[in-house]
Amino acid sequence: MSDCDVVISGGGLAGATLAVALAERGKRVAVIEATAREAESQPSYDDRTLVINAASLNILRAIGLLPAELTRMPIARIEISRAGGFGHLCLEAANHGREHFGAVIVARELGQVLSSALENHPLIELHCPDRLTGFHTDTNSIHVELASGTRLQARLLVGADGNASTVRQLAALACQRHDYGESAMIFNIQARFAPQATAWERFTPQGPLALLPQSGGRLGVVWIDRHDAIDQAMQWPDRQLLDTLASRLGQDFGGLARPGRRARYPLVRQRTPWPLARRLVLVGNAANAVHPVSAQGFNLGLRDIGGLVDALEGLDDPGQPSALAHYARLRQADQESTVRYTDTLARSFTNPSRLAGLAAGLGLAAHAGWPALSARLAQAAMGFREPVCSLARDPAQHSRQVAA
Ligand SMILES: Cc1cc2nc3c(=O)[nH]c(=O)nc-3n(C[C@H](O)[C@H](O)[C@H](O)COP(=O)(O)OP(=O)(O)OC[C@H]3O[C@@H](n4cnc5c(N)ncnc54)[C@H](O)[C@@H]3O)c2cc1C
Repeated sequence: MSDCDVVISGGGLAGATLAVALAERGKRVAVIEATAREAESQPSYDDRTLVINAASLNILRAIGLLPAELTRMPIARIEISRAGGFGHLCLEAANHGREHFGAVIVARELGQVLSSALENHPLIELHCPDRLTGFHTDTNSIHVELASGTRLQARLLVGADGNASTVRQLAALACQRHDYGESAMIFNIQARFAPQATAWERFTPQGPLALLPQSGGRLGVVWIDRHDAIDQAMQWPDRQLLDTLASRLGQDFGGLARPGRRARYPLVRQRTPWPLARRLVLVGNAANAVHPVSAQGFNLGLRDIGGLVDALEGLDDPGQPSALAHYARLRQADQESTVRYTDTLARSFTNPSRLAGLAAGLGLAAHAGWPALSARLAQAAMGFREPVCSLARDPAQHSRQVAA
């Protein structure tokens, strides 16, 4: 039986990031990942273009997971509009005292950085491909069984195994689930006119549409609609896809061309109000999964990771119940409000009732014309939610604290 401080089930974006953060603080970590690293089908490291906000960039950088080439697509402006209604909002990072709100990172590229760190860190033991099949707890340890027959013993088990978390199910943690009846289709395109460093979010009667900057004059598209409409759009010839996209955008990008490979994701909301059991905690989508409408999912997971790293700092026993409970209480408000905010946004802009449409339009108009509201939205877009974890603080703040 192998002995370590922390076992993490799931080596996707959240699990791998947490593993490296803890190993960098001297913890011995075992990571169990079900999908072989070289597999094309690795579910976490795919073609998704992730908007990673400024606070999250700080977290990744502080853990050593942000080589310069990953931040080559910054977002300095966010444009939000609504098809057929009034209300248009443009947020400029410069108006809020920053160079950018965050950056677009391709999940596959971050995945390469994470995979390499998992394979090469001397304090990380990687079990891949393998799966957690069971565990039991005694006073001081948690004992984990893997499908291969391997047994691991640790002080803490972290479930970072995604929406259908085996750890969450085996621990019988209550999870509220809502199926939106929608899917997101993603692909990228070439745009002759693709203004630099700008992210677009457009609310259409069919669902939200996001366009995100990518390298080489390309744009990443996130297109959300009912399952059956996405089923059809996945099969459309390229010309039909591009024409429909252009008509929904309502803005001239000077000709759209060369759409890349399409992928789809069914959308659910999941909320685990108390993601803890004895010597066990959930992070990432295993704990909370949100609609991608405001690009919050992984950002929320990274704030949880930052909070957990703070809570375990300096502890010999990372499974200490009081430390885990303290972590869960500190993170509750941010988790609750992020899930609620994203859900409200996802529902209100697609609600066919005219009243909801009016409210949505007024919401945008109010944000545009009322600086305090725009400032709140910009602050949310940058991800500095209280309590800001140590890893998310701006480097200048860090050095001021260390000096004090
Ligand atoms: C279309 C779309 C766009 C998005 N855009 C953004 C964005 O712009 N910004 C943002 O912050 N977020 C975004 N998200 C959300 C983001 O992708 C997720 O929050 C993130 O992928 C969650 O990572 P995770 O590691 O928690 O879970 P997953 O990515 O689901 O990873 C779970 C891992 O666990 C492994 N696993 C599963 N079961 C087991 C088991 N029993 N044993 C061992 N391993 C197991 C899986 O193989 C996988 O590697 C988007 C999501 C979608 C669908």
